[in-house]
Amino acid sequence: MIHAEGEIAYGLPGYSLRVLEALEDAGHETWVVGGWVRDALRGAAPHDVDLTTSARWQEVEGCLASAGVEVHRTGIAHGTVTAVCEGHPIEVTTYRVEGDYSDHRHPDEVRFVRDVREDLARRDFTINAMAYHPARGLLDPFGGRADLAGRVVRAVGEPSERFGEDALRVLRAVRFACRLGFEVEGRTQRALVAHAPELADIASERIGLELAGIVRSGRAAWALEHQTEVLCQAIPELAPMAGFDQRSPYHAFDVLGHTAHVCRGVEEFTGGNASDALRWAALLHDVAKPSCYSEDEGGRGHFFGHPKLGAQMAESIMRRLALPGELVSATRALVRLHDHAVRPTSRSIRRTLLKLERACPDHAKPLAFDLLDLKRADAVAKVPGVAGYAAELDQVSAALRREIASGSAYRLKDLPVSGADVMRVTGIQPGPGVGLILAELLSAVVNDELPNRREVLLGQIRL
Ligand code: ATP
Ligand code: MG
Repeated sequence: MIHAEGEIAYGLPGYSLRVLEALEDAGHETWVVGGWVRDALRGAAPHDVDLTTSARWQEVEGCLASAGVEVHRTGIAHGTVTAVCEGHPIEVTTYRVEGDYSDHRHPDEVRFVRDVREDLARRDFTINAMAYHPARGLLDPFGGRADLAGRVVRAVGEPSERFGEDALRVLRAVRFACRLGFEVEGRTQRALVAHAPELADIASERIGLELAGIVRSGRAAWALEHQTEVLCQAIPELAPMAGFDQRSPYHAFDVLGHTAHVCRGVEEFTGGNASDALRWAALLHDVAKPSCYSEDEGGRGHFFGHPKLGAQMAESIMRRLALPGELVSATRALVRLHDHAVRPTSRSIRRTLLKLERACPDHAKPLAFDLLDLKRADAVAKVPGVAGYAAELDQVSAALRREIASGSAYRLKDLPVSGADVMRVTGIQPGPGVGLILAELLSAVVNDELPNRREVLLGQIRL
């Protein structure tokens, strides 16, 4: 859609207009706020519509109910209800300010106010503190539009106070900078570094949500390099990686610097479309290196066992952050295998698929491609001599594609014999024993010890 810079790029969706007009017709001043306004001014993909209104939640509920709009009491303590109009949820919140924050995270109370400007003033960043009304236009008391044009994240009001009230804003600033590709304005940046230690007071699942946004932006490398203190506060296990000299002829960077290069590399190799698991694995693949460090007589550094310990650490970090279980197991598998040698042979590819399938049933194929991208990014983030391995990985990718296209066996369901066959031949009852026999057959097929043919495999079934 064509739009002049700084103008609202698309109209409000009809369902949200209906809600806004129902409230305004009843005499309640109502504005669109937050992400929708920000993203509409940027001309970016439309965002959910959030409304802010002078009406109390009881009035919102009554007024929308008479307009035939469904309303849910999703956060009435904070003045929020969610209207569902034509299947779309719209949050409607009464103008409010927050009381004192004695613990850097929860306002002790919220207070409802009459003036939308007061409500905008309690919001975190100028780009998030604009209000829009289709007839009244844009209300932008803190220069959010100019900051969008200048591509900066700037706190509303006194930055240090704002981060002191709610330390989660430290991570939100980094998330918005990552997502939008913006810089953080200088005073805001100094204040957020000073307040980063207060992230320790924030519930880990809230930290997890913001970190997920940072990782999903594809700009974790920027965050590691430019917001090191913040990331190391959010994930304390990253802190020992900063400045950790690898004392290795293969490495040109310290562990954190190398990690940033790998995060950037996975974006390059996937055209900016890396999966969540690949992004998290890039971030955490070497997290155990500081704990696994040893030096040989020549003073050279080694990190024996770091993929195994790293997989455990990645899992415990991600569980603490309450990230989805499937994402955790996929990341864990990638971290575990990131140093595993994969060759361009059928056997090597099948063995890798088998390991991934065991770790994440039904996800081996996409994970195998993720693993190769991780290994490629890892190789090019070392010294130039090692980068040659990235070219070999192209052959491995080709072999992986061939292997998948030819339908090669790496899952139990790819075997031409079943649990029923095992029970018939051996006479054993259903139970784990059946699976063990099938797993052994699969392992023999994957390792080229047996052909994947029914009559051969039937002949091999024994207790
Ligand atoms: P997105 O949902 O796309 O990440 P958003 O701007 O909608 O972006 P939300 O976290 O959904 O962000 O919050 C909605 C609005 O509420 C923000 O735009 C901001 O104005 C305000 N807000 C949210 N969290 C805070 C906070 N911790 N401190 C101050 N204001 C906040
Ligand atoms: Mg939102």
